[in-house]
Amino acid sequence: MKVNPNFLKKVKKYGAFDISKCFNCGNCTAVCPLSAEDASFPRKMIRYAQVGAQKEIESSLDPWLCYYCGECSDTCPRQAYPGEFMMTLRRYLIAKYDITGISGFFYRFPWIQNILVAGIFAFSLGAFAVYKGDFQELAAKIELAFPVYVTLAIAAYVFTFYRKTILDKAKKILISFDFSNIKETLIHGLTQKNFSGCSDTDRTRWIAHLLVMSGYTLTLVISNLHLLEPLKKHYGISDFATFLVFYAAFAILAGGFIMMYRRAKKKAQSSSFSHSTDWLFVVMLFLIGFTTAVVHISNMILGPQDPRVEMLYKINIAVEVAWIIIIVPFTKWIHIFFRPMAVYLRNLKKEEAQGKLFSMPIPGLK
Ligand code: SF4
Ligand code: SF4
Repeated sequence: MKVNPNFLKKVKKYGAFDISKCFNCGNCTAVCPLSAEDASFPRKMIRYAQVGAQKEIESSLDPWLCYYCGECSDTCPRQAYPGEFMMTLRRYLIAKYDITGISGFFYRFPWIQNILVAGIFAFSLGAFAVYKGDFQELAAKIELAFPVYVTLAIAAYVFTFYRKTILDKAKKILISFDFSNIKETLIHGLTQKNFSGCSDTDRTRWIAHLLVMSGYTLTLVISNLHLLEPLKKHYGISDFATFLVFYAAFAILAGGFIMMYRRAKKKAQSSSFSHSTDWLFVVMLFLIGFTTAVVHISNMILGPQDPRVEMLYKINIAVEVAWIIIIVPFTKWIHIFFRPMAVYLRNLKKEEAQGKLFSMPIPGLK
């Protein structure tokens, strides 16, 4: 096993934990409700980090199968915070899987990310303010560009994740077409089902995640399909679009509020060690929900021709531009893909062990 003696020092830049205190009792793995025979964590990951087994960690799915129940940290006799260590590994891996290296830079220098978000927001707003054309048309073009940009960012991450966890080890392309695996992956992606696997399920945290996920997905659908034209149409309370906007805004605001409240109170292990990028993430989500709702309500009350509606719409789109350019490709947002993908790849490894899999050797890769 190749080791990197500086690995732990590198990971420590991404979060607050102290596994130097760990004396390998194994308590954390014994109490972890999500640890299993084929995915035993967190002690194995801690051991790898202690000896500098960087490659083993970077090719492991285990960090993505941990849902930060916090039971390991609660019961650790040495206060090594294994739950926070797993969270820190996820930040480290996001940075590692980002081919641009920007994510790691933002994690290490979060204030630069804050400045960039504020700068892109201010710049976009300034550009929108002086724009003399039809802003509704411009907003439609911007919203059409979002999915292209996001798809490219996700594709790069997903490929690196697959390469590190499967390709580099198996030396061949492995794909599962098993319906039950695909179904399980979809269920995990849509419901974040593993939250319920924690022995003492923290329902508030799960509900907050579900609300944010559903509200945000709906917002993406609304904007990417360009279902709203607040400067052209006058919406009423009984319109279907109003229902969609109100649900999306409510879900994001309620979920975002719960997340911010929990982080401020620091009651649960999962919210005790917030990284400043976590704060930026929830604050921006909250702003998206808030500005979307405000634009729609002002359209309903004032009508599409009112200049105040246009001004609010410009603020809403400027928030979304900053979110899409800086937050989506370079922060924990990618969790929503990596978690279900880890479930899929874990099942794929099981199928491979049973010889049930479609595989394709890559010429020249040994
Ligand atoms: S419970 Fe604490 S001391 Fe024991 S192995 Fe886990 S992290 Fe180390
Ligand atoms: S935080 Fe929860 S899921 Fe993660 S390793 Fe600890 S007990 Fe297991």
